[in-house]
Amino acid sequence: MDIQRPRGTRDFLFEEMKERREIENTLRRVFETYGYGEIKTPLFEDLALFTKKSGEEITGQIYHFQDKSGRELALRPELTAPVSRLYINELQKSPKPLKMYYFGSCFRYERPQKGRYRQFWQMGCELIGGKSPESEAEIIAMAAHSLEELGVKDFEIHIGNLGIIRGILHQANAPKIVYDTIMAVIDKGEVEELLKTLNEVEIDPKASEILIKLVGMVGQREIIKETSEIIKDNPKSVEALNELDELLDILEAFGFTNYKVNLGIARGLDYYSGIVFEIYAQGLGAQKQISGGGTYNLIEIFGGEKVESTGFAFGFDRLVECVRLCGEEKTHHKTVDVYVAPVSKDVKLKAIEIAQKFRKDGIKTEVDLVGRKLKKILNQANNLQVDYVILVGERDLKEGKVTVKNMESGEQELVEIESVTQMMIDLLK
Ligand code: AMP
Repeated sequence: MDIQRPRGTRDFLFEEMKERREIENTLRRVFETYGYGEIKTPLFEDLALFTKKSGEEITGQIYHFQDKSGRELALRPELTAPVSRLYINELQKSPKPLKMYYFGSCFRYERPQKGRYRQFWQMGCELIGGKSPESEAEIIAMAAHSLEELGVKDFEIHIGNLGIIRGILHQANAPKIVYDTIMAVIDKGEVEELLKTLNEVEIDPKASEILIKLVGMVGQREIIKETSEIIKDNPKSVEALNELDELLDILEAFGFTNYKVNLGIARGLDYYSGIVFEIYAQGLGAQKQISGGGTYNLIEIFGGEKVESTGFAFGFDRLVECVRLCGEEKTHHKTVDVYVAPVSKDVKLKAIEIAQKFRKDGIKTEVDLVGRKLKKILNQANNLQVDYVILVGERDLKEGKVTVKNMESGEQELVEIESVTQMMIDLLK
């Protein structure tokens, strides 16, 4: 066939879908224990929702199109902007803070590679309103808790506060364009390039020197002290550093101490207003960032009142890969527990009847639908790794009975039809 999947997209088969569903369910469970409720937004939005937030340059990365009425629309590249729009449209009057989570696919026109796709999934949370170090710490704790629940051990949470670097640029009177250029270079994490840029933009050499020192600040909590020395003449930066310090106290009260302070996190985008964090997992190569988030001020940019929010998203596909790498040897997942096997054509209706009764009682059941011979059915039941086969034979039926075959031990038992459902429920508990 000539028609292939579009570049950067994937098909998921049974086992993988099962694996993904389990991860999704674990995250749902964790998010809900912290009081988050699920929301859903459309797959496509007005293109302006994304350009307003990130500038026109972003259109290069966006799948956008005109609909039949000439509206400029875009497949969503992320979910923070849609959630902020949803808040403005639907929830502005609701009591805050609002805690919501989402799971959905995003689209970016990027060069596909391992861990980077054109359609990928994000699962994340937004806490709208009620910004405080406590709520920021709770969000980070929840992200870490989710990873623990998934059995991911080798991860690092890097936390920073954009206000520290901003304070320095503000004091140096850096114009917006210079500010944006510097933040974009810091986001790339390349010190050489930062040095070059700082020389080009003619910023106060003292500020330059401080910036270079700050972006290299990555480590344990001790670096807070070191940093406070470097920025002591800048009240805005001092304030941001104290905010970070307070957050770390609270995070430790939540039971998370395995974080790193990283003052070089820029998160590229202008709408982050304070705390920022990224989570990196081992074993994923270049695309090791499995999550990113922080406190942002997007609702005001979109014309709502000033409501600060904190949020994060897991890159779901990278998370799946990570869980797979950390997981124990995978056991084969079976799809059903019981196979109902009609011994001859004459009893097929009775077999369907029994299978349907099982299903209505919540037992995962398969029944032969294509008139296979018994030997073939047993082979297939074996392949499906079912626990029990119910043999439905004419002679037994006359006595109101069926045979239950335990596929592991091979033992067989004649059982009254009346009581076979309850028996299965008890055996499969
Ligand atoms: P961002 O909205 O860029 O902060 O992305 C949030 C998370 O989504 C990142 O930490 C990645 O794990 C994941 N992610 C971003 N872009 C892609 C992509 N093209 N393919 C797969 N995952 C991605």
